[in-house]
Amino acid sequence: MEPGDARKQLTAAEQRATELDWTAICAEIAADMRSMFARFPTFADRNIGVGRGAGGDNTLIVDEAAEDAVFAVLERVAGEHDAAFSVLSEERGTVEYGGSGVRVIVDPIDGSLNAKRVGLSYSLSVGVATGDTMDDVFYGYVYDFGSGEQWTARRGEGAWLGDRRLDPAEPGNELEVIGIESSKPAFLSQELLRAFDGRVMRLRSIGSIALTLCQVAAARFDGMLSLRPCRSVDAAAGQLIVREAGGHVIFGDAERPLDVPLDLLPHQHVIAARDQRRARFLLDSLSS
Ligand SMILES: [Mg+2]
Repeated sequence: MEPGDARKQLTAAEQRATELDWTAICAEIAADMRSMFARFPTFADRNIGVGRGAGGDNTLIVDEAAEDAVFAVLERVAGEHDAAFSVLSEERGTVEYGGSGVRVIVDPIDGSLNAKRVGLSYSLSVGVATGDTMDDVFYGYVYDFGSGEQWTARRGEGAWLGDRRLDPAEPGNELEVIGIESSKPAFLSQELLRAFDGRVMRLRSIGSIALTLCQVAAARFDGMLSLRPCRSVDAAAGQLIVREAGGHVIFGDAERPLDVPLDLLPHQHVIAARDQRRARFLLDSLSS
């Protein structure tokens, strides 16, 4: 039995939720969101605030429209399949459809700043879990609205970029390329830069934690770290995609790497790499 599965006895409706075709459901949401973004083609169209979400960030008109697209599909799916789950989303917080034993952790737009600037990379991130922590996520989906790439993972079965299974044995290239997220210049300490000196060749900053994790999964990046604690909505799907693709993920504490709650609070820095040794190096660099 997988960790977390023993924690809660699922009802029949919750069990049905675990058996849904989550890739088809998430792909439908992504398609609806693509149409939505097409209605807001410019920076001026997207740079309209509509208040503050449950996660505390300023909500843009496209964040709100994205969340509407997410809930429209999930609510219909719950009804159609008589499936019970709860949804945790960046703007609305928790919404329950008949039970909370299965949790759908959604960031409708991870990389809202890029979305607002009509930049290259922003994503839909959906993780599905049967418990309260990262370790309990059994399905992950990330869609890149820039490249059109779809990333998926199922616990114990592997991770895919589109139809291609990601090779868990791909080692990458030591620390040639590292992704840095939450990359406000003030968060880049002299100590961190000194720790990187001579070890890390290049830094890249995409502006979406979910997509940066996916780059590690495909060994396009050798590792990544967030300079600030991240929220579970940003990382729930991506962390499973990295691990199913053979990588290693640490949320702040190397002894309990996946022991962070699935809620809207920023708890820990997220660190990922192609192996545990490099993830530990990045973690140590952060705490130096
Ligand atoms: Mg967001």
